[in-house]
Amino acid sequence: MKVNVNKDACIGCGACVSICDKVFEFDDEGMSKVVNSDVPSDLEADVKEAVESCPTAAIEEE
Ligand code: SF4
Repeated sequence: MKVNVNKDACIGCGACVSICDKVFEFDDEGMSKVVNSDVPSDLEADVKEAVESCPTAAIEEE
């Protein structure tokens, strides 16, 4: 599983960072960035939860 954050859609709410800080972190502008785009299998459930929790659908599975 691969994941990406669409910076144009992210509003920096922090939901994804709260759910899975091994994959998502805040960048210098307070928006989410992916730090582990090749998601390890043991984190896939958390990432899927983050995808579903994002209010702007900014997290894209690839
Ligand atoms: S949940 Fe979505 S809008 Fe919120 S910080 Fe993460 S990517 Fe951005």
